Amino acid sequence: MVRYQLYINNEWVDPASGNWFDSLDPFSGEVWAQVPQANATDADRAVQAAAAAFSGTWSELSASARGMMLHKLGTLIERDAKRLAEVESRDNGKLMSEVLGQVKYMAKYFYYYGGLADKIQGSVVPIDKPGVFNMVCYEPMGVVVSITPWNSSLLLTAWKLATALCAGNTVVCKPSEFTSVSLYELAKLVNEAGFPPGVVNVVSGYGKEIGEPLIRHPKVARIAFTGGDEAGKRVYAIAAENLKRVSLELGGKSPNIIFDDADLDKAANGVITGIFSAGGQTCMAGSRLLVQESIHDEFVDRLLKITRAAKIGNPANTDTQIGPVATRPQFEKVMRYIDIAKKEGARCLTGGKSREGDGYGAGQFVEPTIFVDVDNSMRIAQEEVFGPVLSVIKFKDEQDAIRIGNDIRFGLAAGVWTKSLHRAMLLSAKLRAGTVWINNYRSTSYATPFGGFKDSGLGREGGVEAVREYMEAKSVWISTELEMPNPFIRRY
Ligand code: NAD
Repeated sequence: MVRYQLYINNEWVDPASGNWFDSLDPFSGEVWAQVPQANATDADRAVQAAAAAFSGTWSELSASARGMMLHKLGTLIERDAKRLAEVESRDNGKLMSEVLGQVKYMAKYFYYYGGLADKIQGSVVPIDKPGVFNMVCYEPMGVVVSITPWNSSLLLTAWKLATALCAGNTVVCKPSEFTSVSLYELAKLVNEAGFPPGVVNVVSGYGKEIGEPLIRHPKVARIAFTGGDEAGKRVYAIAAENLKRVSLELGGKSPNIIFDDADLDKAANGVITGIFSAGGQTCMAGSRLLVQESIHDEFVDRLLKITRAAKIGNPANTDTQIGPVATRPQFEKVMRYIDIAKKEGARCLTGGKSREGDGYGAGQFVEPTIFVDVDNSMRIAQEEVFGPVLSVIKFKDEQDAIRIGNDIRFGLAAGVWTKSLHRAMLLSAKLRAGTVWINNYRSTSYATPFGGFKDSGLGREGGVEAVREYMEAKSVWISTELEMPNPFIRRY
């Protein structure tokens, strides 16, 4: 059993409350770590440290030196990828093979933004006034608070942390109460990389007890949030009281659209990857499958063959394909949605049950589930389940696919499978989503923006542009005249 402490100002400290809570292994159901339960006093300590670093040591470093530090952190993450992945997989039940890939890839965010740090340039503006010179500079905002969910604690923090530090901000990270341990392990590497005190801080606890005081803190300039839309709206409302800058990466119910001219083998693998990777516990899950009616039955048969062969079990085993649901409340929520779908008249062709007994640890498993005869108005088509549940909906033609694809309050991502260039271009233009994948699904990169339309969020993470979201533009006017005319003397 490991007991963690808060990481503030490069020191390991006990929480002011004197309380710790248990972190559970979702496979075995056992307590395996104890996590500090931070409160408003700790929020203040962490923000004060970050604010002091922002106006002190961190701002004194050149952008190149900042970038080199980010690069160093990337090398340490690569060196310790296996250890970090083991910790995160233990905490959220995701397959070890998936998490290891994610952690290795996460290092690249630090390389990319490390390289970008000294290439953020301003501009000289051809201004429309005589006798003045105008330039635009970009400056960091100050203290950034990163709040992340349980499904990919490390990677989603890296998206924010690398970008915020690249821009010259300092950061307080608040992981999910279900998966805090991996960020404390990351903090050890931040320390080893040589970041000055206060530049990166990690405080764990519950949304109301530590998340809200962080957002309310007068010295916090910006909040970078990933999570559910309910908490996202609350974060947005609190931030608005003090006009704080905010980015929100929220939920999704993304359509994966299969046309009759698609390579159906390739598409079937893409659909399975889209919905069953990470047991469906990803914001970008392709959970609404839209299949052209002429190939519906044949395509669903292909999916059933692959799905029924999936190996469910211990996420630490390399041959496991579906692991447990990450938390008990989430497991119950997924099972509730399966009931709702059945009551709504959707037909369950495979799965629809939990798994218990030998090889299934604490029994927090949901079989990969496929529903057909789903109408897009049903709750199972409109609401985010965040589990291994696929809803299959028929469509007639391109216009029908676009209409159904967009008939949802979310707009995070969409997939399109076709060999027709016309269809690919039409759908990528008409689908209201932050990411559209043509003949692939789930690709992401540090080099391109990710984020949502509509209720899926606000702002983008990734790519060069995302850095600007962590900076303020400043317009500087310099007079080039030798004299300043007296405004009270009229010139005719
Ligand atoms: P959640 O919204 O319950 O929690 C997310 C984080 O917010 C946690 O750290 C939590 O402690 C904190 N929080 C909760 N209430 C808060 C409050 N009032 N003030 C401040 N912080 C608060 O989400 P979750 O259940 O951990 O994660 C699942 C959700 O995350 C899903 O809806 C999923 O779609 C979404 N998600 C989105 C993306 C994306 O990039 N769009 C990626 C992954 C997950």
